[in-house]
Amino acid sequence: MNAVSKPIPQPSPMTQAFWDAAAQGRLVLQTCASCGTVRHYPRMLCTQCYSHEHFWQNSSGLGVVHSWTRCHHAFHAGFAADVPYTLVTVDLDEGVRSLGIWKGDLPLTIGLRVQGRYDNSRGDLEWLFEPQMK
Ligand SMILES: [Zn+2]
Repeated sequence: MNAVSKPIPQPSPMTQAFWDAAAQGRLVLQTCASCGTVRHYPRMLCTQCYSHEHFWQNSSGLGVVHSWTRCHHAFHAGFAADVPYTLVTVDLDEGVRSLGIWKGDLPLTIGLRVQGRYDNSRGDLEWLFEPQMK
């Protein structure tokens, strides 16, 4: 257990539904109710048509590796016990990018099919990616 706790996201009215779904183990993506554009992270306006109207759709969590980085230094004392760890940026099948903790083997390859999932086995809710099972 770390002496310093990890920072915990503070939901706002705009992000509350996202965090509520995360607590249930679901990734949801904000989707424009006017033109259907999927946006992630949650935003007030659609970047394509400027509509305020939106709904939340479930994401498969499936996508391909866009990039990754190996973290050797903790940016916050709460993560000191975790280093080194790998963060991966994934192009989700729904057309947006997601950042998560890599739980597969290294080295990674760009374009690798991956599956995202929430996990709270270490006490904090984490968004993880691992190779997609066939
Ligand atoms: Zn729109």
